[in-house]
Amino acid sequence: MLTIEKELVAEFARSVDQANHIIVGTHLNPDGDALGSAISMGLFLESLGKSFEVLCHHPAPRNLRFLPCVDKIRTEGTDKTADLGIILDLDSTERLGNHKERFDAVPKLIVVDHHVPHQAPGDVRIVNTSAAATAELLTKLYLQLEAPISPDMATCLYTGIVTDTGSFRFRNTSSSALQAAATLLERGAAFEKVSEEVFQSRQLSSARLLGHTLETMQLDMNDRLAWGTLSHRDFTWANAKDEDTEGFVNELLSIETVQVAALFREAVPGKIRVSVRSRGTIDVAEVLRQFGGGGHKNAAGCTFETSLEEAERRLVSELRLCLESV
Ligand code: 5GP
Ligand code: MN
Repeated sequence: MLTIEKELVAEFARSVDQANHIIVGTHLNPDGDALGSAISMGLFLESLGKSFEVLCHHPAPRNLRFLPCVDKIRTEGTDKTADLGIILDLDSTERLGNHKERFDAVPKLIVVDHHVPHQAPGDVRIVNTSAAATAELLTKLYLQLEAPISPDMATCLYTGIVTDTGSFRFRNTSSSALQAAATLLERGAAFEKVSEEVFQSRQLSSARLLGHTLETMQLDMNDRLAWGTLSHRDFTWANAKDEDTEGFVNELLSIETVQVAALFREAVPGKIRVSVRSRGTIDVAEVLRQFGGGGHKNAAGCTFETSLEEAERRLVSELRLCLESV
């Protein structure tokens, strides 16, 4: 399993020990790694008897509401003064949404993350881009701290690893990620429940929308580029929400010839969320950075505040260029 520098672990422990009130935050549109990591940190701080809040701009999406202690995640904070902030699975404080200002105001900020550093905020940075998930880094952090990992913590952390590796299928799956997952199973992670809830609980509305996405997808560059667009009308037709499109872009990428896949969706009128996935060495986070987005080499996202057609036009031409160069 990967190792965190001893000095960083000690600095983390010291900071937590000295803090009176801690705020824990994760990114908007939270995924399994964001929520699993954040809840595990809440449970860790609770075991130490610390005063804390776990904050996220958006509530847990439907498929993650099964997470133990999910009610620890608050969309509204208190007005208590925090003297320590811990942000998880984040490479910029922008992605804290409503909570940004509160985290910007803390005297000390700890970052635990596995994204390619972009803005690199924070005073103590436990950042490792070779970690498959933030939850993998946290598993190691708790082990190095010799902190107890309860079955609930293990379930949360395991969810982070399993979702960020696509059930140990994506390239980020490493021996370290598998070892962390194995340790979490030993600590009582409810892995069957996680698989069932995360991967086998699609709503009918989501299945309909997936069918529509696959039927209307567009292909270019000798079928190496695939993209789908979902208009606000499509969402209304299927009676679906943005979170119901989780995993669709991976279905596009699963087509034999496809090397880059994108999904444009307008669940909220005027706001286009885009998810992009790629194979191998093609770096889509780099492409999306031009549009204010980011993420990982093979999995990235961004938001356009334009029409669906405009977002499609602008990004697809960049993705074509990106494929031309490989
Ligand atoms: P997804 O497509 O699943 O929403 O996101 C894929 C990856 O890209 C995740 O690691 C996510 O955190 C990151 N990501 C998604 N949207 C954005 C964005 O607007 N900005 C940045 N910096 N990262 C994003
Ligand atoms: Mn992550």
